[in-house]
Amino acid sequence: MTGTYSFDEIVTKFRAEGRIAIVGASLAGLRAAEALREKGFNGSLTIIGDEPHEPYDRPPLSKQVLKGWVPADHTKLPRLRRVDATWKLGVAAVGLDRINHVVKLANGEDVEYDRLLIATGTRARPWPNPEEAALQGVFTVRTTEDAAGLAAALKVRPKRVLIVGSGFVGSEIASVCRDLDLPVTVAERGRGPLMGALGGVISEIAAGMMRDAGVDLRTGVAVRSLEGEAGKVRRAQLSDGTVLDVDVVVASLGSIRNVEWLEGAGLAAGQWGVGCDAGCRAFDINGVVTDHIFVAGDVARAPHVLYDYEFMSQEHWDNAVFGAQVAANNMINLEVGRVPHLPLPSFWSGQFGVNIKSVGVCSYGDQIVFTQGSPSERRFAAAYGKRGRIVGAVTFNHGKWLPYYAALIEKSAPFPPPPPGYDRPVEAEVMAASFPDPREPAGNPDVVLTGHDPTSRGAEFRPRA
Ligand SMILES: Cc1cc2nc3c(=O)[nH]c(=O)nc-3n(C[C@H](O)[C@H](O)[C@H](O)COP(=O)(O)OP(=O)(O)OC[C@H]3O[C@@H](n4cnc5c(N)ncnc54)[C@H](O)[C@@H]3O)c2cc1C
Repeated sequence: MTGTYSFDEIVTKFRAEGRIAIVGASLAGLRAAEALREKGFNGSLTIIGDEPHEPYDRPPLSKQVLKGWVPADHTKLPRLRRVDATWKLGVAAVGLDRINHVVKLANGEDVEYDRLLIATGTRARPWPNPEEAALQGVFTVRTTEDAAGLAAALKVRPKRVLIVGSGFVGSEIASVCRDLDLPVTVAERGRGPLMGALGGVISEIAAGMMRDAGVDLRTGVAVRSLEGEAGKVRRAQLSDGTVLDVDVVVASLGSIRNVEWLEGAGLAAGQWGVGCDAGCRAFDINGVVTDHIFVAGDVARAPHVLYDYEFMSQEHWDNAVFGAQVAANNMINLEVGRVPHLPLPSFWSGQFGVNIKSVGVCSYGDQIVFTQGSPSERRFAAAYGKRGRIVGAVTFNHGKWLPYYAALIEKSAPFPPPPPGYDRPVEAEVMAASFPDPREPAGNPDVVLTGHDPTSRGAEFRPRA
């Protein structure tokens, strides 16, 4: 019989043929494209990115680039293989027509697809007052241009740098300023640095590190306004009435997910990203899984079996890489060949001479215990627990032990966990982890459990046909 295919032929055709579009030309987008080709996709591949650059790496932007070790335009991502794609760079996707399978671009072009990957990531939350944000000397750090501008401003040795917010990026920049021997003030409206991600016990240690390094750390203080002269920032008004003379301000206020282009497409897209299943397939606004649309990287939000199936948003490098690989696999495989993306969240940060690493979701815990090392020497491991189970761990200059804790978290092992044999700290009692009440001002952790609701918008109820 002509026109019929065996199951194997269908699988092979599905894997190899068709048109795939990827929106977002950064870490997740590039790694997904490479994985698609690696796994045998021979069809047409279009990669759309609103930045004019080839994909580049962001972690060095707040570290090596600001220190002056690496120029901002030298952080291009290494290519792991040829992707044979049509690149559309410097042009944003502005709409998605799911009925006709078309991505609409800002230049009026339409890109047709059979399968689509959404990898549009996040952007820096800007300083809230646009006039103040436009003053020369006011920065955010997300893009290569941001980092180049800030690196140049630090190079001419400002009299004082003000960093607003003390999450990981803000703290890393404060650390660089001290390495460069620049006077720096950190204004944090919450109780302390890294509070949202690691809780009050670890925040106290991080605050000690900052102050010992000479950072003027002010907690419980908001920056009310910025004032300029001749278009350049000169002063900052703090909520406690203090006025600071500053010539560089870095707004490190967290991020915003790039989902606006999906408005009206009927996907479960909202402030925490685009809801998808554990196999990276996007949900529609009613929570129905789609067949042709996948999500990966910082913009994805998926349920996690280890965390009560709550939807998790992660802003971590590893999550973007592994999520992209899983999405690519699932885009070109039928049900039996699909795999889940269930990463144990993990991140690293270098600041004030300390290498900080973490696995699991520390902010899901309500208790903490130091398990190894010495907190006073800032060389330790600590585990986080909830309802008698270990859910996360952090190490300061003790990273080689992280796999030990990761294995326990993967098994939901009992909390407090057995210490791995030696190097037990004096301070080994279980304490409240002291995460901020959600109503308290504090930076969002960069892994967020966002509840079961697939979208912050209401579902769209249609009468039955
Ligand atoms: C300064 C800094 C330091 C960091 N340090 C660390 C670290 O130490 N450890 C760690 O684990 N993680 C770190 N991260 C986080 C890590 O870089 C991110 O997790 C990673 O970049 C996510 O990749 P992504 O491809 O999902 O998203 P992104 O890198 O955000 O890329 C998304 C891309 O899509 C583009 N885009 C958005 N909307 C559209 C549209 N409508 N049309 C077309 N294109 C669009 C964006 O411009 C961007 O180029 C850091 C991030 C920053 C900014």
